[in-house]
Amino acid sequence: MGKGNIGVYGLGVMGRNLALNLEEHGYRVSLYNRTVPGKEEDIVSSFLEEEGKNKDFVGTESPEAFIGSLKPPRKVLLMVKAGDAVDKVIDQLTPLLSPGDILIDGGNSHFKDTVRRVQKLQEMEIHFVGMGVSGGETGARRGPSLMPGGSKTAWKSLKPILQNIAATDPEGKPCCTWIGTEGAGHFVKMVHNGIEYADMQLIAECYHFMREVLEMPIREIGTVFESWNSGELNSYLLEITSKILKVTDDKGEPLVEKILDSAGQKGTGLWTSVSALESGTPLPTITSAVFSRVFSSFKGLRINLSQKLGEPSQQPLDSGEASRFVTALEKALIAGRVITLAEGFFFIKQLSEEKNWNIDLAEVARVWQNGCIIRSELLIPVRKALQAEINSSHLLKTELFSMKLLDLIPELRNVASTAIQYGVPVPAMSNVLAQYDMLRSEKLPANLIQAQRDFFGAHTYERVDRPRGEYFHTDWSNAN
Ligand code: NAP
Repeated sequence: MGKGNIGVYGLGVMGRNLALNLEEHGYRVSLYNRTVPGKEEDIVSSFLEEEGKNKDFVGTESPEAFIGSLKPPRKVLLMVKAGDAVDKVIDQLTPLLSPGDILIDGGNSHFKDTVRRVQKLQEMEIHFVGMGVSGGETGARRGPSLMPGGSKTAWKSLKPILQNIAATDPEGKPCCTWIGTEGAGHFVKMVHNGIEYADMQLIAECYHFMREVLEMPIREIGTVFESWNSGELNSYLLEITSKILKVTDDKGEPLVEKILDSAGQKGTGLWTSVSALESGTPLPTITSAVFSRVFSSFKGLRINLSQKLGEPSQQPLDSGEASRFVTALEKALIAGRVITLAEGFFFIKQLSEEKNWNIDLAEVARVWQNGCIIRSELLIPVRKALQAEINSSHLLKTELFSMKLLDLIPELRNVASTAIQYGVPVPAMSNVLAQYDMLRSEKLPANLIQAQRDFFGAHTYERVDRPRGEYFHTDWSNAN
């Protein structure tokens, strides 16, 4: 049997689907999964029996056999749990690799770990690529969005393979592009996940508003989402939401209402927020979405306080008002999505400049147009705006989106203020609005903050009537 074109290490959910995708595109794929002492199941053999029959796979039983089964220069895709496991696997494989071989980490690794790994492997002349993979199980199998970064030398030989298995954008181009050196690929994937958190939260707030303020039945809410999905809001997340709202349990009742309202998270949203705080970039919508999941997990405290703190009394809306609110909500969600993307792209731009990664924002918008979880119709004009105004520091500065928001923001204000009056929490929408108002405010009350800082800590301040860079201090206690 001939040698494998590429190896996949780790046959979990993502690894096995990427292996099937690669094989289907004409590559001979070598396979390996760690064998854990005491664990009965041989993952490689059972995969070959169940899904790999009569396919061009090379199953291997040891790291030595795995690496030995590959055509040099070897290409190895690691699809293992992010964190220590990646370092352990790297340590296990590097003595078996030769200079010029390529290791690709397709898991959700933290970009700072990828920076470290690229540097470490460079010393051994092994090309390390940190690749963001989005689209979940189905994407991995049928065409994911791929965000590779790291050793640029590796890109030349990886490009045909990765672009072959990736999804395609509406113009038929692969949703896979070189993102940048070091940890750029994993960084962009991390921000993608942050945007995913925010978009999910914004959709959930629309659902909550329709349920609690407009008192609409679940099925009807599903129909509203379905109709929004055929317009400007067309997106994967809205599509799955409308499907979810139609599913009933064995009693014929909406299944979604039976699910405990305590959201899980695996950490990429938290990483996005922490990284933004560390780099001094505002990321309020994404961060509010992370905190909303955290709040949801305090179910016991919420039950307790719901009995103590009561709720504002409000008149039910008449049916005419309710239907006007459904239209307002649609516009509020568009505004939310635009501003979330603006905040995500601004963060990518800031960090790319800080790290000298030269990330092409329009290309990022393009590879997110299909295959990934945040794919949406809106990414088409976002890409065009970023391409046309390449030097624009913020998406909201582009002609298209600044004009568009003028029409959408009044509806967002209407929805958010009504939610506040009804006591229905809309943290993501409120943060979208606060961010918009901060960005369009020439004057903010930070002058008072500076005075307070100078009062208690002699931190000094600059004056509006003097050149920047001149600092003043006042003895506030004894002034006047
Ligand atoms: P999974 O189904 O849990 O599989 C994890 C794989 O990692 C298994 O093959 C497991 O081997 C292996 N592994 C764990 N610890 C290891 C160690 N110390 N040494 C060697 N191998 C080890 O996970 P998954 O969903 O495929 O995810 C894989 C990576 O892709 C993760 O980083 C994840 O965050 C990322 N990702 C997941 C998705 C998704 O939708 N699931 C989407 C994008 C990215 P055993 O079989 O022996 O346990």
